[in-house]
Amino acid sequence: MNKIPPVDLTRQYQLIKEEADLAVLKILNSGRYIGGEAITTFEREFANYIGVAECVSCNSGTDALFLALKALNIGEGDEVITTPFSFFATAEVITRVGAKPIFIDIDLDTFNLDLAQIEQAITLQTKAIIPVHIFGQPMNMTKLMEIAESHDLYVIEDCAQATGATWEQDKIGSIGHVGCFSFFPTKNLGACGDGGAITTNNLAIAKQMRILKEHGSPLRYRHDFIGINSRIDAVQAVILTIKLRYLDYWNEQRQTAAQYYQELLQSVSLLKLPQAIVGGDSVWNQYTVCIADSQTAIAKDQNLVQQTKRDLVKQILLDKGIISMIYYPIPLHLQPVYQALDYQTGQLPKVEQAAREVLSLPMFPGISEAEQEQVAYALKDCLVEI
Ligand SMILES: *Cc1c(COP(=O)(O)O)cnc(C)c1O
Repeated sequence: MNKIPPVDLTRQYQLIKEEADLAVLKILNSGRYIGGEAITTFEREFANYIGVAECVSCNSGTDALFLALKALNIGEGDEVITTPFSFFATAEVITRVGAKPIFIDIDLDTFNLDLAQIEQAITLQTKAIIPVHIFGQPMNMTKLMEIAESHDLYVIEDCAQATGATWEQDKIGSIGHVGCFSFFPTKNLGACGDGGAITTNNLAIAKQMRILKEHGSPLRYRHDFIGINSRIDAVQAVILTIKLRYLDYWNEQRQTAAQYYQELLQSVSLLKLPQAIVGGDSVWNQYTVCIADSQTAIAKDQNLVQQTKRDLVKQILLDKGIISMIYYPIPLHLQPVYQALDYQTGQLPKVEQAAREVLSLPMFPGISEAEQEQVAYALKDCLVEI
């Protein structure tokens, strides 16, 4: 039996090998490794692709979110509403700028923020909402922007997992005030190292983010703010510029693969398949199923040791050479570091259920039908067994 990895990046590389190798060699020979045309070209092409006036490149998705919050002057005494079902960075940056993350529950069909619960979480301290287009699935941005506008809040889209996804006719990252992207290798547009970008139509915000990412310096050796050092290097920029031209093709391959999983796995009992949102196009960074489990509950201090049905399934798949992943086993509001925020187990029941039940199946451009069949049959078999 073949081993099936959760992601295989070498298949993308094979497709671009010739042009990528040449472009990287050109940078190596140029001696210009930081800054320069490679970076400005990528920023221009990425801004065009997303459909915004400005793209500011930076070192990571985490830095993108941090710079966005800083540029919008969010800090001490402010509250930012976000989802507890995301990679830790989303909440970490809120705390890092001195603001307080306010977690609200998710919608189990899309794994995104439950729009119906946002308004009751808004206070006089609320400054912004950070929606996360989790697993590649876009939020309903029309409704979210309506809520934000009626309360005069900023919307910072965390697009790390959804490069290329659309809501109605617009690319995500072009609808909120700022869009934050990660080019971590496993993201839909992934570098061969770290990278990130911020998109916006607001020229003043873009200018401020550029200053902040260069040590708060608008002019060389003059520093107006305490900033950070955050840049993408030239090697990553040329690779991303090439990969950007393949992004739609790769996202279509993910969509086809998601469709095929849907066919293979429909009507399997105990299994809940991901629901595509109406009005948007997911780019399927993950294909995440739920394995129903009403028995176990996450206890705040025991959440690392609880075994769920999903854990059992993951192990059986692994024994058959199939590597599945759990994104995310501990919701952010129950993370040890956020103990002081005083959320209780059971307070956000849907995200806690998701944490017990989710399992992400192998998903990447170039996954073959035979591999998907192997995953699907193995999954069906073990759901009968347990
Ligand atoms: C990957 C990711 C980030 C952080 O991106 P880095 O480039 O790794 O810093 C932030 N938010 C979400 C939802 C992510 O998936």
